[in-house]
Amino acid sequence: MTVSWIPHRFVGGVLALDTANTVVLRIDPQRTFDRFEDTAEIGRFAEAASTFRADELGGRRLQACEPQRIAPVVVAIREATDRLLRNGVREGALGTADLPPLLESCAQGLAGVREKIGAAEAPFCDPATPIAFEAALAVSALSLLRPGVLERLKICPNCGWLFTDKSRNGSRLWCDMAVCGNRRKASRHYKRRMAQREVDDV
Ligand SMILES: [Zn+2]
Repeated sequence: MTVSWIPHRFVGGVLALDTANTVVLRIDPQRTFDRFEDTAEIGRFAEAASTFRADELGGRRLQACEPQRIAPVVVAIREATDRLLRNGVREGALGTADLPPLLESCAQGLAGVREKIGAAEAPFCDPATPIAFEAALAVSALSLLRPGVLERLKICPNCGWLFTDKSRNGSRLWCDMAVCGNRRKASRHYKRRMAQREVDDV
């Protein structure tokens, strides 16, 4: 079954976090699953991310024409990003022990790539041509090491996704209020009703 890469799947706020979130429910070992298990999804994800992450990418499109070939490096960057930042959110600081896997996988993603990044007008270089997805993913992941990023990072208590809280007062609880916030509210409501019924049954 193919994945619908709908806007909800891009609530991480940063390409590298959206990619980390392609493993769903990391907080629940019984129900967790990987949306890149079918490597063809990497290409479809890159296509959708080109639109949903256009701000970060300066309008440059992502190219992943050989998803099977790039899958190992994409997954390595993804897993290293998730480990470093998930631990970072939990502990309030980044652990240097988690850095080498990220740096090594990002080096692989950038091997042989000759781009100019970080310019104000073209953060990912020339928007007229596409950029290799694994290279853009590496740049995005490394950008998360900037000061000030960690304090805005959160883990959604419902689905376990990592996301950047861009709200002014930093009070966002859910990755997506419309999905996770409501789902949790509905389940609380259900539990209350069941508890009430038990009381009524006595
Ligand atoms: Zn969520």
